Amino acid sequence: MKRTFTCIICPNGCEVEAEYEGTTVLSVSGNLCPKGKAYVTQELTDPRRTIASSVRIKGGELPLTSVRLTKAIPKARIFDAMEEIRKVTLQAPVQIGDVVISGLLGQDCDVIVTKNVGRKGDQ
Ligand code: SF4
Repeated sequence: MKRTFTCIICPNGCEVEAEYEGTTVLSVSGNLCPKGKAYVTQELTDPRRTIASSVRIKGGELPLTSVRLTKAIPKARIFDAMEEIRKVTLQAPVQIGDVVISGLLGQDCDVIVTKNVGRKGDQ
């Protein structure tokens, strides 16, 4: 089979034309580096994605903080991950790197804060 994949490993975003049988990649073209082939193989065998989102904060100078995953998780679990993140409300203050959810969905992945938010009225 033939299919075009957009490699998302780096900002070049190469359009990788791949020929494959099942999960075996026979040939690739259009990739600027070998990671393009590795990306296609990963997409065919175990596609993974990472996400950034936001979480509510109580008592903060802002109502939300931004969060991200520390590792990509199976693509099929992204909606479940968003649901888990949506359930969370943090208490201000929060700092970059604070762990919001440890072992998200049983994966080797945490959700961490990416924006400092101080307590309302402090400063
Ligand atoms: S193939 Fe290489 S250069 Fe192209 S987007 Fe992927 S990692 Fe970047």
